[in-house]
Amino acid sequence: MAIGITHKFKSLLRLRLRKGKRSKQLTATCQDLSHDDCCRDEVVPEEPVVFISEQPNSLFFQKLPIEVRKTIYSYIWLGAYDNMYHVPNGRHIIFKEGRWYNMRCVMSEVDEDRDFIQKTMDYIYESGQGDLLMWQRRLSSTWGSRHWRCEERIEYGSMGAIDRTDFGSMMLVCKRMYPEVVESVFESHKFIFNDLFTAHRFFVHQPSPYVSHLRDLDITLHTSFRECSPLAINLPKNRVREVINAVKSLPSLHSLRISVDICDRGPWRKLPERDLAIHFKACQALKKFVVEFPPLLAGKTYLFDGQDLDTDAANPESTSMPFTVIRRPPLRYWQFHPGEVEHFKWEMFKRGSQPHCRITLAKSGTAISNPYLVKSDG
Ligand SMILES: [Zn+2]
Repeated sequence: MAIGITHKFKSLLRLRLRKGKRSKQLTATCQDLSHDDCCRDEVVPEEPVVFISEQPNSLFFQKLPIEVRKTIYSYIWLGAYDNMYHVPNGRHIIFKEGRWYNMRCVMSEVDEDRDFIQKTMDYIYESGQGDLLMWQRRLSSTWGSRHWRCEERIEYGSMGAIDRTDFGSMMLVCKRMYPEVVESVFESHKFIFNDLFTAHRFFVHQPSPYVSHLRDLDITLHTSFRECSPLAINLPKNRVREVINAVKSLPSLHSLRISVDICDRGPWRKLPERDLAIHFKACQALKKFVVEFPPLLAGKTYLFDGQDLDTDAANPESTSMPFTVIRRPPLRYWQFHPGEVEHFKWEMFKRGSQPHCRITLAKSGTAISNPYLVKSDG
């Protein structure tokens, strides 16, 4: 249930807060100084001392322990629309045009299938019914395959009733309640970040004093290859590493999902997974820790050194990793030319003793060699 509050009541609260602040500042001045001093006009502290009343007459604060109070707050955040969405407590955090926004995550259960978009494109391609270009745009979403609906809503829609949980009203009740309310907001919601700029600002550049109360995080790092390259990731200033270091030091974190991507949205992908994995490795205490990487191709010849980090029992390294690796499926659709979505297939072949890879366009049969391949299996 969202708490509503009328405009008049908000004004009254602000008025009372202002009056209370003034009287408490005056009291503080009188307490700290002698009577003669405090009555001089010039003895006004440059920075007002803000006192927070312990609310001795409040049964809510004096009788109920903090755990019960936070349980009560968590019920307040429940809304009428929660059961309509796959992640009922999911909130996208966005820093845009100098302001922070939070909007509800509207991902559907089917979006957990990382191949859902391309399966839909398969149907459109075979049946001829549907807009392949529209789904191509979704396939190339920088928000990842799970949050493309949320991106479209934020890009083309506006905040609606489903976003309005009135956190502000609870924060205005009193200064004693304010920190508990903010802590509860951080503890009760899944914070979702879909761009590196926002995540870096939230965790590194201007971290909130309450960030340590975060429990559930979902981060998609859509970054340039330059920032994820083995050389750059270990430089003193690297935004990806700074975000990872900030996140892994959060003491209350229970669940973390990080999707790693690079700006190269074409069919050729490479990623310095092992270097990134070293930085992820320190997140040992998490109950649930998932890292989503770009796809592997057949033969697992797609990594720098052929070493798969997947949770394959045959791979001894996977057992030492504190996270589960999941991968997006390889692309089979792309817009190589404006206005034309091509369907293609991956083919592995050998030239001499070396394995190679290429894609073959379905309509024209044109073969395009993969410039990044290939590490030998041998
Ligand atoms: Zn979402």
